[in-house]
Amino acid sequence: MKARHCRPEVSLLRRRVYGRDVSRHLQRTIKSRAVKKLFENNRRWAAAITKDNPQFFETLSLQQNPEYLWIGCSDSRVPPSQIVNLPPGELFVHRNVANLVVPDDPNCLSVIQYAVDALKVKHIIVCGHYGCGGVQSAISERPKGPIDNWLMPIKKLYDRKASVFGEGTGSQARVDQLCEINVIEQVRNVCHTGTVQDAWERGQALQVHGWIYRLSDGLLTDLEVTADGPASVPDL
Ligand SMILES: [Zn+2]
Repeated sequence: MKARHCRPEVSLLRRRVYGRDVSRHLQRTIKSRAVKKLFENNRRWAAAITKDNPQFFETLSLQQNPEYLWIGCSDSRVPPSQIVNLPPGELFVHRNVANLVVPDDPNCLSVIQYAVDALKVKHIIVCGHYGCGGVQSAISERPKGPIDNWLMPIKKLYDRKASVFGEGTGSQARVDQLCEINVIEQVRNVCHTGTVQDAWERGQALQVHGWIYRLSDGLLTDLEVTADGPASVPDL
């Protein structure tokens, strides 16, 4: 049993839950250099925060009180908390490929419900990004498997808004324009959820924003489609 790198309680848990064979497998995983680096990073990160504020994690473990729900793309180059420079506890986050809010997706709808009804966030931010691979994929003709189903709403949006794209629009400009339109569409979808409609009806202060991020300079742009009630849901 090679458990000397683990805390005793973790080792005990592994023996109880997984048995010896799986425990060895986990040991091998943790020893791989790429994964080990993450644990080292984590220890340094926690130590740096605790140095500035010794009670930080203890206080945060008791409650979360974020003011914002962020709905963004899974792209690794668009990390929400880092982009807006917020510490843990201040941003409730949902991410998926191409930052979609699909009306029958229980995952996203549950996140919105919890954020609005339980956490009482004041702002929902839908944030897309230029050069989104998901958006690009949605308008390419080549079938790619299951993700085609996920990206179908963007494909339909592209067909619906075909007249917006000029004749001479290049492929990259076309993708970027569709990235913006997709954000506005998802803002509308958030606004039309039962959770948001009910919140507005009972007078809860809640704004829904549409932003877009540029990978090449790290800057956000507000698409100025903010809605704070049924009358201000953006047109598309
Ligand atoms: Zn993306």
